[in-house]
Amino acid sequence: MKIAIIGAGVIGCATAWEFLRQGKEVLLLESREGPGLVASYANGGQLSYDYVAPLADPGVFLDLPKWLLNPGSPLRFRPQLDPRQWCWLLAFLKASNTSTAQASTKALLQLSSLSRDTLHTWMAEEPIDFHYKANGKLIAYRSPHLLEKARKQVEYQASQGSNQRILSKEESIALEPALANLGQALVGCVYTSTEEVGDCHLFTRALFERVQAHPRATTRCNSRVARLNIRQGKVVSAQLSNGEQIEADQFVLTNGLQGYDLLKQHGETIQLYGLKGYSLTIPLPAADSATAVAAAPEISVTDYERRIVYARLGDSVRIAAMVDIGDGSAAIRPDRIRHLKEEVSKSFPRLEVERAEAWAGERPATPEGRPIISRSRKLDNLWLNLGHGALGFTLACGSAVLLNALMSQSTVPINALPFRTR
Ligand SMILES: Cc1cc2nc3c(=O)[nH]c(=O)nc-3n(C[C@H](O)[C@H](O)[C@H](O)COP(=O)(O)OP(=O)(O)OC[C@H]3O[C@@H](n4cnc5c(N)ncnc54)[C@H](O)[C@@H]3O)c2cc1C
Repeated sequence: MKIAIIGAGVIGCATAWEFLRQGKEVLLLESREGPGLVASYANGGQLSYDYVAPLADPGVFLDLPKWLLNPGSPLRFRPQLDPRQWCWLLAFLKASNTSTAQASTKALLQLSSLSRDTLHTWMAEEPIDFHYKANGKLIAYRSPHLLEKARKQVEYQASQGSNQRILSKEESIALEPALANLGQALVGCVYTSTEEVGDCHLFTRALFERVQAHPRATTRCNSRVARLNIRQGKVVSAQLSNGEQIEADQFVLTNGLQGYDLLKQHGETIQLYGLKGYSLTIPLPAADSATAVAAAPEISVTDYERRIVYARLGDSVRIAAMVDIGDGSAAIRPDRIRHLKEEVSKSFPRLEVERAEAWAGERPATPEGRPIISRSRKLDNLWLNLGHGALGFTLACGSAVLLNALMSQSTVPINALPFRTR
C-alpha cells in the first residue's frame, strides 16, 4: 500500500518514519526546498511532556483586555475582518472552560507520554543527532500568587501521573545557579526532572534523511500539492502546482497550517489558525562555564509571567516567546523582537542579544489545543495529522504512532477520540 504524505515538517517526517518502520511504502511531498523550514524551523526546542495545558482555559476571559490593549503583552490579539479568525476565536472562547481544559490536558498528557516513549525507542534503535538533552525543566515564577495557583495544576497533573515539585527560591537557585540572574524577582519554581530539549529542525532533517535513504520511500522537495483530485468519495491523486499527478492508495495531510486550504477545496472545514510566535538563537559567550553565574541556564527554564522559554541547544541558547493572534503571516515585526530582546536582557544580562538570530513562525493551532489525528470527515482514504499548535515537536512521534495504528486498524495505544476530526 502506497501512502502519500503531504508536508515534511516535524509531523510529516515523524509520520513517514513511523510508517516505514511498520512496513508501509511512503511518498513524502514537500513544497519548500527542504524539510522543516516552516513552523518546525527555530521553535522553542522544548520536549514539554508535562506542560501540555491548552491556552484555552477559563483565565482567558480575564486576560483578554490585556491582550487587546497592551502592545508589550506576551499574548496579543489583533482583530481582523476575517471570518476564519472569528470562527476560530469563538470556538476558542467556547473551549475556555474548566472541563474542556481538563479533558484536553488529560488527552494531551497521554499523547505526550506516548511521544516520549516513541522518541526514546527511535533513539535506542539508532542515535539521532539533534542536540537532545534530558535536563529537566524549571518554570520560574515572580508572583507568589501565581506560584500558589501553579501548585493546584501540579496537584491535578500528579493525579494524571506527572512528577513535579514546587521549589523555593533558594532551592531553585541551588539547582540552577543561572537563576540568580533574576535576583529579587524570583519567588520559586515548579521543577519537572523528566522534561527534555532538542533542536526541532535538526530532528526533522535527520528523520527526513532516514526516510530518503529507505528503499520503500520516495521524497520530493519543491513539490507543492495544489489540489487533491477526488472521485467517488476518494482521493485519486494529489496534483502538484506544475500539473503533475501523484497517485497513491492513501493520502495524509501533514502540511501544518496549509492543511486548512487543501481541505476547504473539497468542502471540509477544520478550525485551524496560526498563532504567531518568535524565537532568538544566541551563541553562548566564550568561556561561559568559567564564570561564577552562567549567562544562561543549563536546565530548560520558562519565565512564567513573561511567557519566555530558554533552552540550551549545543553552543547556543534558544529563546522562544509570544502568541500573536491575527498577525496574518510569519513576517518578523521589529517591535516584537526589540521587546523580546529587552526582556531577555533584563533577566539574563550577560546574553549577547545583539548577536541573536531572530525567527518568527505560526503555530498551527486548533481552538481546544488538541491536534487532529484521524480520517477526513468526507473522504475515505484521506487522513489528517494537523493542528499541533504549541506542542508539535513534543507530540510528533506519538501522533505518528497513533495515526499508523488508526490507519492499520490495529490496537490504538491511547484513547484516539479526543483527536478525531472536529
Ligand atoms: C515560536 C514557536 C515556538 C515553539 N516552540 C515549541 C516548543 O518548544 N516545543 C514544541 O513541541 N513545539 C513548539 N512549537 C510548535 C511547533 O513548532 C509546531 O507545532 C510544529 O512545528 C508543527 O509542525 P508541522 O509539521 O505540523 O508544521 P510545519 O513545520 O509548518 O510543516 C508543514 C510542512 O508542510 C509543507 N507544506 C505546506 N503546504 C504544502 C503543500 N500544499 N504541499 C506540500 N507541502 C506543503 C510546508 O512547507 C512545511 O514544510 C513552537 C512554535 C512556534 C511558532
